[in-house]
Amino acid sequence: MATPSSTRLLDQVMAETPGGETLIGCLQCGTCGGSCPSASDMDSTPRRLFAMLMADMDEDVLTSNTPWFCVSCYYCTVRCPQDIPITDLMYTLKQKAIQAGHYHQDAHAPFSESFIGYVEQYGRSFEFGLATRFQLVHHPLATVRKGGLGFQMLRKGRLHMTPQKIKNMPQLSAILSKAKQLAGQEV
Ligand code: SF4
Ligand code: SF4
Repeated sequence: MATPSSTRLLDQVMAETPGGETLIGCLQCGTCGGSCPSASDMDSTPRRLFAMLMADMDEDVLTSNTPWFCVSCYYCTVRCPQDIPITDLMYTLKQKAIQAGHYHQDAHAPFSESFIGYVEQYGRSFEFGLATRFQLVHHPLATVRKGGLGFQMLRKGRLHMTPQKIKNMPQLSAILSKAKQLAGQEV
């Protein structure tokens, strides 16, 4: 059983995450990584990151970019057959990385800013915009490799050239403003 006083990173992460003790039941099925929209930018899928955590590869876990590319979409969490709070575990792992001095300065900030910017303006992510605004700067070769897939998605109407605004944007804006207030930020 996880205890907060344990020196083992796995135990600390489980103890500091609501429902985190369920991580011990991870089946390594890969559903989380297969569901994750950010997996291609992560150096390890959530499944792999958890395997590393259980193998006490603490340095590799704490320096991984995986939690930093997590956009909190909760796809993994709702699909996990073991009801593991994967998204919340990513938050705990970010805190642990910061405490250990492994705050990533390279790519997560602009990615997060781009993603949040679209959500605040349109109520949803805009994949084509993320690709052009972020991927071209940080992963130009990957962008070229993915170009064919992007073209196919455009042809089939799965990717839009312009952002699509949700219907009840004022309601979402009010929710976001309240969340910022609760987080102690200026709106
Ligand atoms: S979906 Fe759940 S059980 Fe499967 S690998 Fe991910 S965390 Fe483990
Ligand atoms: S919550 Fe994070 S880790 Fe889970 S699917 Fe979404 S981006 Fe990936």
